[in-house]
Amino acid sequence: MIEDVIIIGAGPAGVATAIQLSLYGIRPVVFEKDRVGGLIKNANLIENYPGFVNAISGRDFVKLLERQLERISANVVFDEVLEVNIEDTTFVVKTRRTSLYTKYLVIGSGTKPKSPAIKVPRVALDKVFYEIYPLIEVKNKKIAIVGSGDAAFDYALTLEKQNQITILNRSEKLKCRPLLFEKISRSINVIYKPNSEITEIINSENGIILNYTSNYGDEKIQVDYLVFAIGREPQLDFLSSEIKSRISELESAGSLYLVGDVKNSIFRQVAISMGDGILAAMKIYQKIKGEYL
Ligand SMILES: Cc1cc2nc3c(=O)[nH]c(=O)nc-3n(C[C@H](O)[C@H](O)[C@H](O)COP(=O)(O)OP(=O)(O)OC[C@H]3O[C@@H](n4cnc5c(N)ncnc54)[C@H](O)[C@@H]3O)c2cc1C
Repeated sequence: MIEDVIIIGAGPAGVATAIQLSLYGIRPVVFEKDRVGGLIKNANLIENYPGFVNAISGRDFVKLLERQLERISANVVFDEVLEVNIEDTTFVVKTRRTSLYTKYLVIGSGTKPKSPAIKVPRVALDKVFYEIYPLIEVKNKKIAIVGSGDAAFDYALTLEKQNQITILNRSEKLKCRPLLFEKISRSINVIYKPNSEITEIINSENGIILNYTSNYGDEKIQVDYLVFAIGREPQLDFLSSEIKSRISELESAGSLYLVGDVKNSIFRQVAISMGDGILAAMKIYQKIKGEYL
């Protein structure tokens, strides 16, 4: 059996695609390896999504996405796509449990974190994070965040409400929005350290010890958790090399659609991702209508 449409990822891009397709009576299979909502569940406050006059937290926004998926009876399958191949003009989407076929594939798989240059000891892996939603409930902990962009400072704003935060920026240059930096500067629970680069991560009984170089020479801090927010790159590991080499051709043919952060380089925002998803759904509908009506 061939599915009408398969969507990989139930972040904002994938969810918007599914909602728009539902308006045409098309019920795609949406594969999600983690939870609905994608990266935005980490956001402290979304202030740039029109309609939410007083802003909305990432978690509350995700609850609304989940409700809307329920309302349209979306077919969300919580399973990781491990491999996508193409046979003639049909995509074969494989997970550990199943293999499905489709003529129309939407990839809204977002981004994956860049790997840190510093070695993380295996025994410390459970104390090191690349997103903060697993830490949302923690209290009275010491947490180091590495980075200098919006994500690092946004993570700090969420976590500082109940914890002590140290932000380590390896240079003096700030990449975050000035208003975010201002907010952080007003917090008594956040210490910001420019020119501070980690040289070693050591696992300890009570957390992890970070050795780092700073303006004052060699220093160290002990923390409970370490969060890396040092950039992200497109998540396309599951695509076969054949598809990777034919992306533009398959997009032009109207069978493959990359939507959201996976294709938007540094311009990663919810509204853009959702716009991509809606556009993809409209184009797919035009194709299906043209073919089958
Ligand atoms: C801290 C922080 C704050 C932010 N604040 C804002 C903000 O205020 N305003 C704003 O507009 N944007 C904000 N963003 C950016 C926003 O989160 C992203 O632009 C948006 O989530 C991108 O949506 P997406 O659907 O393209 O990708 P993602 O949100 O990354 O979703 C991709 C989904 O695909 C799933 N997936 C990946 N690979 C597979 C696979 N192989 N199989 C199955 N599922 C898979 C993932 O689990 C994920 O759920 C923020 C981001 C962060 C980190």
